[in-house]
Amino acid sequence: MINVAVNGYGTIGKRVADAVAAQPDMKVIGVSKTSVSAEAYVARERGYPLYIADISKKAAFEKAGLEVAGDVEAMIQKADIVVDATPGGVGEKNRPLYERYNKKAIFQGGEKHEVAGFSFNAHANYRDAIGKQFARVVSCNTTGLVRVIHAMDQAFGVEKVRAVMVRRGADPDDVKRGPIDAIVLNPPTIPSHHGPDVQTVLPQIDIVTLAMIVPVTFMHMHAVQMDLKRETTREEVLKLFENHSRIGLVRKVTGIKSNAQLREYTQDLGRPRTDLWENGVFEESVSVMGREFYCFQAIHQEADVIPENVDCIRAMMGTVTDPEESIRMTDRALGLVAIG
Ligand code: NAD
Repeated sequence: MINVAVNGYGTIGKRVADAVAAQPDMKVIGVSKTSVSAEAYVARERGYPLYIADISKKAAFEKAGLEVAGDVEAMIQKADIVVDATPGGVGEKNRPLYERYNKKAIFQGGEKHEVAGFSFNAHANYRDAIGKQFARVVSCNTTGLVRVIHAMDQAFGVEKVRAVMVRRGADPDDVKRGPIDAIVLNPPTIPSHHGPDVQTVLPQIDIVTLAMIVPVTFMHMHAVQMDLKRETTREEVLKLFENHSRIGLVRKVTGIKSNAQLREYTQDLGRPRTDLWENGVFEESVSVMGREFYCFQAIHQEADVIPENVDCIRAMMGTVTDPEESIRMTDRALGLVAIG
């Protein structure tokens, strides 16, 4: 059993904890919170020992009926590996703590590549993570881009990529953020940071990305164009995606043409928290013109990095050395059968 601690039980942390708990070879030995919140009660319901960043707040937690197992340092000492899902920039500050106790740690996409020195995606570079002390699971947008670019590169060779990301403004519970009625160029400069981030996993790829944020809370939408090294057909590309465990096809017959309808679909499918763990590539948008490829894909920002964190744990622990085997184990335990 791999003993996993989740430092930061928020949007990503709570999903990682449930995904880890579902695995046959992993156990959640603790999760951490900074203050009393609804999520802390969920952790109690799930039976995850609750640790707190600031032990002086122990009385406040106990007054709220939440048992505190100890502080974050105590949790880290009990773990074989820590998934750090604290807000962007906090992970960097936590790194010395993991070093002090000689623990492995996985950071999230809100941290810079340099914090771990290695950026991870299960299909692209699982084997390179084996035995590493630190890794970073790239952000939701980058995970979505890497999956589709890597699959296309393996099959046809990718000459260059140009992609536009229409990004959700905030997560559903993030009541303080916007925009409310605007399309914000984010960033206004071109390229956006997403292209260089893809290159932390796929350094050979020529990629330029543009991004803006819009007033939605569920999913990013990517418009992706690639120049391929060899000509292919739409049918070949669809077959490639059908056979990819983390690329799903939003079929024309479903009539789904938006993030909203896709959300309804994942909800109706009974996915936990309506999570779409795979890329949602719109079948109708898949177009091939000679060596040019185009598609739209929906990326559920809260969900696509979750199976990647689970695979990253196995790779870093070195317990499973075959990426496909880990991906299969993760997906089976989650009940991830790609849509389409
Ligand atoms: P979040 O704010 O929802 O959750 C962070 C949690 O960490 C909160 O529960 C907070 O209480 C806790 N926390 C804060 N400081 C802490 C500390 N010092 N010690 C322990 N816990 C602490 O954030 P999130 O959206 O889950 O993001 C976490 C990371 O995942 C970031 O790097 C982010 O960029 C990345 N990420 C987020 C998304 C997304 O869409 N939300 C997608 C992919 C990657």
